[in-house]
Amino acid sequence: MRTWVEDAAGSGFDVDHLPYAVFSHGSEPPRVGARIGSSVVDLAPLAATAYDAHAGLFAEPTLNAFLAAGPEVWSATRSWLQDVLVDEAASSLVGPHLVPVAEVALWLPFEVADYVDFYASLDHASNVGKILRPQSEPLLPNWRHLPVGYHGRAGTVVVSGTDVRRPHGQRKAPGDDAPSFGPSRRLDIEAELGFVVGVPTALGTSVPTTGFADHVFGVVGLNDWSARDIQGWEYVPLGPFLGKSFATSISAWVTPLAALSSARCSLPGQDPAPLEYLQVDDPAGFDIDVEVELNGEVVARPPYSSMYWGPAQMLAHLTANGASLRTGDLFASGTISGPEQEQRGSFLELSWAGAEPFIAAGNQRAFLEDGDEVVLRYSAPGELGRITLGEVRGRVLPPR
Ligand code: MN
Repeated sequence: MRTWVEDAAGSGFDVDHLPYAVFSHGSEPPRVGARIGSSVVDLAPLAATAYDAHAGLFAEPTLNAFLAAGPEVWSATRSWLQDVLVDEAASSLVGPHLVPVAEVALWLPFEVADYVDFYASLDHASNVGKILRPQSEPLLPNWRHLPVGYHGRAGTVVVSGTDVRRPHGQRKAPGDDAPSFGPSRRLDIEAELGFVVGVPTALGTSVPTTGFADHVFGVVGLNDWSARDIQGWEYVPLGPFLGKSFATSISAWVTPLAALSSARCSLPGQDPAPLEYLQVDDPAGFDIDVEVELNGEVVARPPYSSMYWGPAQMLAHLTANGASLRTGDLFASGTISGPEQEQRGSFLELSWAGAEPFIAAGNQRAFLEDGDEVVLRYSAPGELGRITLGEVRGRVLPPR
């Protein structure tokens, strides 16, 4: 499998990857494209001449119609695209529909239906427990029995490159007599992986762990921006609310599960064994490396392969009560942290709640300052080398 597109080999965007995005070029309307090398394949006009059956799915301003079409169409489209990108004779047909990625604008790739965020990293949950509840067991009693999660705010999911305004909120530090209202002083990131649901379900039904690939199309990079001071005061007893809902950034590129077949790996191991509806056959994890970059310097390298709960378990749990899925549902892993200090996927952990500031690009940091830019990068083994998943970029703007 070797493409005639010259700059694809070694780029992270070879024919073994082919992620999708919504792009626009000049004043033309946004539509669906796929990435090869440093180009976007403009799928709508190409499919109209060479792949009639599903051409209408790509002239849309979101991926939702394509997501809803299901695994057979996802697979047929991927095969067709690989064929025309490998077949030298098709280069004259496809060539006119390659647009340099440097010339396009990228948009939120799908209309987000519901958004759920989990808490699936044992190391992250243990670190947060030690920081917030130093006198007790780090893990709460339910943690090893179910993937803990909360419902987030779908309407404030933004695409990579969108600036994030420092939020206002109510906060009360442990030493304060009374709460006050103002800009967050403890703005943070959470490096996560998001899973994108394509095929919906009927209310009252559940998705077993074996049904994961029947419903989930692919993955995005995700930054769950978090205001720790607002979160710390508001979260008892119902969980995260305004400390999280001001913005969640996702990558513009959606990597299909089919591109991650070489990245499947075993979960690290679960003790005790989960209840039957959460049991899953290995390989149920993904070997995806994450880099957290602050102002141009890598400050952490969290390994997704260390996550305790796998995504098929999260989906089974999310629907175990009969809650239906909708096309465009997004569920995220929770902060990805590994066991090592340099594998922590939040500043809360990297600075141990501010007690141990770290240095990035010559500056000391505990939490985010105005003007800071964070980029999350993701890579995984592909069939032809490593694939580069979509980055998640965001800069902090001062409060209004
Ligand atoms: Mn989170």
